[in-house]
Amino acid sequence: MPVLVMKFGGTSVATLDRIKRAAKRVGVEVAKGYDVIVIVSAMSGKTNELVGWVTETSPLFDAREYDAVVSSGENVTAGLMALTLQEMDVPARSWQGWQVPLKTTSAHSAARIEEIPTGNINAKFSEGMKVAVVAGFQGISPEGRITTLGRGGSDTTAVAFAAAFGAERCDIYTDVDGVYTTDPRICGKARKMDKIAFEEMLELASLGAKVLQTRSVELAMRYGVRLRVVSSFEEQSDNAGTLVCAEEDIMESNVVSGVAFSRDEAKMTLISVADRPGIAAAIFGPLSEAGVNVDMIVQNISEEGRTDMTFSCPTDQVLRAEKAMNDAKGRGDINFHELVVDDAVAKVSVVGIGMRSHAGVAAQMFKALQDEGINIKVITTSEIKISVLIDRKYMELAVQALHDAFGLEKVT
Ligand code: ADP
Ligand code: ASP
Ligand code: MG
Repeated sequence: MPVLVMKFGGTSVATLDRIKRAAKRVGVEVAKGYDVIVIVSAMSGKTNELVGWVTETSPLFDAREYDAVVSSGENVTAGLMALTLQEMDVPARSWQGWQVPLKTTSAHSAARIEEIPTGNINAKFSEGMKVAVVAGFQGISPEGRITTLGRGGSDTTAVAFAAAFGAERCDIYTDVDGVYTTDPRICGKARKMDKIAFEEMLELASLGAKVLQTRSVELAMRYGVRLRVVSSFEEQSDNAGTLVCAEEDIMESNVVSGVAFSRDEAKMTLISVADRPGIAAAIFGPLSEAGVNVDMIVQNISEEGRTDMTFSCPTDQVLRAEKAMNDAKGRGDINFHELVVDDAVAKVSVVGIGMRSHAGVAAQMFKALQDEGINIKVITTSEIKISVLIDRKYMELAVQALHDAFGLEKVT
């Protein structure tokens, strides 16, 4: 039987009624002759609540116990989805990550998938089971502990299953009807794209467009998975939603194809560190060991052998970063006068593969921000994106201004 992977996000399984609605959609595909692997998220809001409980109990938590707690939301929806399908006379059962077993690294709270053996689930398919409902977001480490794949990780579970089972397609059902030029909740003029290139989707996702988890796009690109984002609230036709595909399959595109943003960023500056060989390693080594995801880095020109070093990281990692820096100072590995934290910044980025062969995008971006009186604090660029750090209160304004400046509401 051909296999189809269908992933339902948090809002699509938020209530028993919505689970029923999703199950009906699964039933339609079963009736077409597919063996279906359904990946479910936790009910919307659940994972946030669980994370809140963990951080309230233990601000610098043991990540193994964090995973034990936050993975639990998916267990509930997987069981409920299987029960709902059984009520519809569709043969189904649920699988938690460890039962598959979905094997991951030991990098708790951000584990990577290593292997998905297909034997257990295929054996059930050959006995007549039609739907395997798998709890997204979770796996098991070599040490036998429960792991999670990072926020939004059910998307990655879905794509990894599609690759492992050679699925015909991986459909991501969510609360928007596809991938837009920017988050339609922030910009009313955002336009849905019928297709988007893997590379662009990868950048948009890693720069904050949470419609797909970055790693899921990476896996789809590597294994050639047909990945589609569709609405779980609208009737579906076969070419609905947005197909994430190879660059060659896209006929028309703008120089800039999308605007992404990441709201919860913090900017940290070490004032007056010694400018000597090895200083960057002495700063960023401990940050990495503390599990801080450093993003932008700026080193100022030095004066009298001392310099300022600025970096950005997600706001929820500021505590860890501060501790790592103060510990390193305590050990005498680095010295700085002061650690200044600005946790009210956001990152806004423009993305487009057309930027490879088109000059002037940066200037146009900076002009658009200037026209709105928005000050840029940090800039980084790569081949197909430009990112700036700005005051968080201007984030929405910046996104809308850039969407307008690059004419994204239409294909030019
Ligand atoms: P799910 O719970 O289904 O996984 P998410 O909340 O993780 O859903 O992702 C869907 C959300 O992503 C949308 O509601 C939308 O607000 C947001 N989003 C951000 N950027 C984009 C974009 N470029 N296109 C579509 N949605 C986007
Ligand atoms: N429930 C997890 C989260 O909210 C995983 C997911 O929904 O993809 O991050
Ligand atoms: Mg998601």
